[in-house]
Amino acid sequence: MDEAIYLTDMFQKEFEAEVVSVNEDKFIVLNQTAFYPKSGGVANDQGILIRDNDEFNVVYVGKFSGKISHEVDKPGLKVGDKIIGKIDWKRRYTLMRYHTAAHVLSGAFYHNLKAKITGNEISIDQGRIDFNLENFDRALIEQEVENSNKIIIKDYSVDVYTLDRRSVEEDPDLTKLAMGLPKNIQELRIVDIKNFDRQPDGGCHVKSLKEIGNIKIKKLVNKGKNNRRLYFTIEP
Ligand SMILES: [Zn+2]
Repeated sequence: MDEAIYLTDMFQKEFEAEVVSVNEDKFIVLNQTAFYPKSGGVANDQGILIRDNDEFNVVYVGKFSGKISHEVDKPGLKVGDKIIGKIDWKRRYTLMRYHTAAHVLSGAFYHNLKAKITGNEISIDQGRIDFNLENFDRALIEQEVENSNKIIIKDYSVDVYTLDRRSVEEDPDLTKLAMGLPKNIQELRIVDIKNFDRQPDGGCHVKSLKEIGNIKIKKLVNKGKNNRRLYFTIEP
């Protein structure tokens, strides 16, 4: 069983682990990992696996059959090897800032426009959220981005915790989110921007909103009622 360290500690940059499987000489599964796999529309971590004096670059991380698989750039790792993993923290932290920014935007869009998020994609140089909105009104959308920046300045804390299914179902704010969940999921990881927005979420986030910086609109694209698209960047 591989253990995802980032689910409980999103700020761990380095870890020790053991290789539990190797596929095609380059797909590595570890007994535990801090590397975030591409998922939930958020890009994967990169970094290195170190065995003694040998370094293997992690070029991609994905989740396959429930296991986090690290693709390395050269052969040589064997089952049982002890490694030290180091994630590229600059990249990860940028993704965390973008991801939390996307939650602030989706909270503002939902609270003020009743717009729901229908898709998202987070990379290190831009974020994209898709949402449904009756009228594609640029001024309205710009206003909500401004509102999001005002929320960020309030510097609310971002907490991550788990709730059991029943408390989620009994919470009027979260009931809607719980409805579509598979029956076998009994515990939900919640990302809670205090006093503002809560979502079940498996990703990595900053600890308080000011870490995000300022959200800037890059582009607005109208792809239909359920697919109004906002591309954004964060500064600095
Ligand atoms: Zn998220």
